[in-house]
Amino acid sequence: MNDCIFCMIANKDIPSKIVYEDDHIIVFHDLEPQAPVHVLVIPKKHIGSMDDVQPEDAELLGYLMTKIKDIAKTLELENGYRLINNCGEDGLQTVKHLHFHLLGKRRLTWPPG
Ligand code: 5GP
Ligand code: ZN
Repeated sequence: MNDCIFCMIANKDIPSKIVYEDDHIIVFHDLEPQAPVHVLVIPKKHIGSMDDVQPEDAELLGYLMTKIKDIAKTLELENGYRLINNCGEDGLQTVKHLHFHLLGKRRLTWPPG
């Protein structure tokens, strides 16, 4: 998927402020932060959305989830945080590469708008 902006970020074809990276996932600051800390956690593998997740992605996404607490610790989110996935049109997904928003350092409202 060479026209995918998050694949380009994962491949370092376009710059981003990277917080964490390993062989499977990459974490970078959102271009338009909605909280003092707002990063995007993505699998390096191109998966379009939660709707495109396949059984063979279980290990990768399970791994991603186990890393959230470590990323949160790196970002000093000891007071809590929110992990969000937007999927599809009603979910207001704009970038069609699976990603999780990790937001913190402010008191977030519930329910989201
Ligand atoms: P979505 O609305 O799809 O859940 O979230 C996409 C997010 O990606 C938005 O919060 C948007 O600010 C962010 N974003 C879009 N393009 C770029 C980019 O080129 N670089 C970075 N770092 N973030 C981006
Ligand atoms: Zn992609």
